[in-house]
Amino acid sequence: MKNVLQLQSISTWLPTASKPVIISGPCSAETEDQMITTAKQLAATGKVHALRAGIWKPRTRPGQYEGAGEEGLKWLAQAKKETGLPITTEVANAAHVNACLKAGVDILWIGARTTVNPFSVQEIADALKGVDIPVMVKNPINPDLELWIGGLERLNKAGITKLAAIHRGFSSFEKGPFRNAPMWDLGIELKTRIPDLDIICDPSHIAGNRELIAMISQKALDLDMAGVMIESHINPDAAWSDAKQQVTPAVLGKIVDSLVVRSVSS
Ligand code: PEP
Ligand code: MN
Repeated sequence: MKNVLQLQSISTWLPTASKPVIISGPCSAETEDQMITTAKQLAATGKVHALRAGIWKPRTRPGQYEGAGEEGLKWLAQAKKETGLPITTEVANAAHVNACLKAGVDILWIGARTTVNPFSVQEIADALKGVDIPVMVKNPINPDLELWIGGLERLNKAGITKLAAIHRGFSSFEKGPFRNAPMWDLGIELKTRIPDLDIICDPSHIAGNRELIAMISQKALDLDMAGVMIESHINPDAAWSDAKQQVTPAVLGKIVDSLVVRSVSS
């Protein structure tokens, strides 16, 4: 059964983006200098269409870096001013949404731990009623396609038509080569159910390891996904979160150069 959602493709809300769409930036905004320097180096590659950074970080255990909070939004806004690139961050509740709207964030995303909770997604959707902002919805951490679609539907019912999905892989008890099992079939089925929906792959959170990012990105493009969101950092090994999977802006540039968009026959 096909889902009917009112959607505008990424090309309408990220008009500078070509295929593949490239979104990059640190897992977490850590300091003003780290944020601005990473953003400038990414912009200098000429290959990035939007900057990402986590401001509120959903950590598994307490006592780890939980993000810069609203102070970090100022750094992100400054990065936008200095590079001209649109900015995107993760929101998990209405307070995050309101802070982002005030700070001029261009695109919001809903993280995997939030997509699992219909109350939280509905709270975000309600906070966005009457607001024309693009939202990207990550898959839930568990492989539940209905929950992923449900999140997209909640936003669409609130009037958000600038929607995309982010495929970031799924938690699994089985230990494989990936931090999160890609389970590509779920992304393929999502596209079958909602053909007009653009899907961005997040190879960083699938891989958990920077060596696998180029390969996973290429696989995503071969599955006709619209682009990739890749974590990058000026000093990846010293990152305050997700150190093993981040790449320098220079490596990001090389990964993008290696990607081939093949025409997919329908
Ligand atoms: C992130 O993008 O840094 C993040 C926390 O992602 P996810 O929700 O996919 O775990
Ligand atoms: Mn991360």
